[in-house]
Amino acid sequence: MIYADNAATTKLDIDAFEAMKPFLLDEYGNASQPYSFANAAKRALKIARKTIADCIGAFPDEIYFTSGGTESDNWAIKEGASNIGKIITSRIEHHAVLNSCKTIEEAGREVVYLPVNQTGCVKKSILNKVLDNNTSLVSIMFANNEIGSIQKIKELTAIAHKHGALFHTDAVQAVGHVEIDVHEMGVDFLSASAHKFNGPKGIGFLYVKRGICIKAYLNGGNQEKGLRSGTENVASIVGMAVALKNNCDHLKENTKKIISLENILITKLEKSEIDFIRNGSKSCLPGVMNLSFRGIDGEMLLNRLDLFGICISTGAACDSKKTKISHVIDAISIPKEYADGTIRISLSKYNSEQEVEKIADSLIEIIKRYTEWMQLKQK
Ligand code: PLP
Repeated sequence: MIYADNAATTKLDIDAFEAMKPFLLDEYGNASQPYSFANAAKRALKIARKTIADCIGAFPDEIYFTSGGTESDNWAIKEGASNIGKIITSRIEHHAVLNSCKTIEEAGREVVYLPVNQTGCVKKSILNKVLDNNTSLVSIMFANNEIGSIQKIKELTAIAHKHGALFHTDAVQAVGHVEIDVHEMGVDFLSASAHKFNGPKGIGFLYVKRGICIKAYLNGGNQEKGLRSGTENVASIVGMAVALKNNCDHLKENTKKIISLENILITKLEKSEIDFIRNGSKSCLPGVMNLSFRGIDGEMLLNRLDLFGICISTGAACDSKKTKISHVIDAISIPKEYADGTIRISLSKYNSEQEVEKIADSLIEIIKRYTEWMQLKQK
């Protein structure tokens, strides 16, 4: 099996797994209990919070543990700003953001969905035009999960702040894969999810800038300073911190390796003279390749690659049951004859040269055979 769908989820880091084990088997105390048996869990939470904060340039008290990216996005959007005022987001956000905004819209608030250019980037001038003093929150993703385009978050945040609006960024695809400094960017909220950076599934965090008031998301036993109640998932939090630190400590070498793998794959495809375009901007998540093949069906490619033991995606994993063109591909206006043939290959630090060569060779073989068959059919 060749796994090349790392934007959907990633393999668990072995160090993260080892670090989790004691908190599943031996140190299972409830971190909120006062007796000494709970001390190891309490200490582990404190260390994990500091490790995560250090990785993104935050203070530990700015990190709130959640169940993942979806919850962090819902929390920031529904409770992050005053419950009046306009929300501005983009047309290419993940559905965790889009559907949270839809709920707000149904409750009678105004939501503006900004268009993006052909490379999937929000234009600063357009945001500036739509912002007014009635805007309470701007939510623009750090990096897109389908095409990998990275937005100019620092500049967009400054524009939002100029109009008195708060700024949230869904950085689920970016954390652990590109350098992030929340204080330098100036964002008020940032969402992250462990399973996208080789941590366990079902755990994530929301960064909330010091001094920003966010309303409680889950009410109960007052964990996470009373804002996100529920017994802490200590083992997963520990695994998340170890995985993030490992990725951040090796960011440069991982990026270098992944980009060289990307180049091998793209060069092979280009040499084959197959007609395709690569979507997304120059500033892109390492390893995320969104490719549109002319006159080919993306679903067919996915299914045939599956027969070769290769896992890729046609769009967002959460969209996989839908066969229509994704909202992201629609938003960047790809010509129809290419759009239908869109796939996403997303590599990780665990992929090898042999694997990307096999992916390229398999793609070329499938497309060539399919094209020949179509030509025969038309005769
Ligand atoms: N935001 C983005 C950009 C994503 O790619 C995803 C997952 O695919 C999410 C949010 C949801 O994260 P989770 O799977 O942790 O709920």
